[in-house]
Amino acid sequence: MPFVITDPCIGTKDTACVDVCPVDCIHPRKDEPEFAQTTMLYIHPDECIDCGACVPACPVAAIYDSVDSTPATQKALVEANKVYRAGEPDTVAQAEAIVKAHVDSHGDLMAIAPADRAAAHGK
Ligand code: SF4
Ligand code: SF4
Repeated sequence: MPFVITDPCIGTKDTACVDVCPVDCIHPRKDEPEFAQTTMLYIHPDECIDCGACVPACPVAAIYDSVDSTPATQKALVEANKVYRAGEPDTVAQAEAIVKAHVDSHGDLMAIAPADRAAAHGK
């Protein structure tokens, strides 16, 4: 069951998780061309080894430890993590479209500062 990045990453995107991931499954990295285009980062679900290192590294509690533990308000972003593939413009666009739809439909969450957003996920 892969780990999932959710919306507190939007507006944060500091790549702290990338620096601690032992299998380089979080993208885009700062040295990848997609970094400037993406709204958030994504975990490749087939490559994640469930080590948990990224969770305490994230300053805004954006990462959940499974699809099941991801709150209902964030479920659409599970799919964004799932489809994103580094170096594939079509999948990057698909993931970003999902994120845009999430942002457009969750103005309430987006109005909250990223550091406080996770606390509102369950509401
Ligand atoms: S749980 Fe481990 S392997 Fe999976 S994304 Fe986080 S740091 Fe990488
Ligand atoms: S550490 Fe958290 S906020 Fe930073 S890039 Fe990773 S998921 Fe996004």
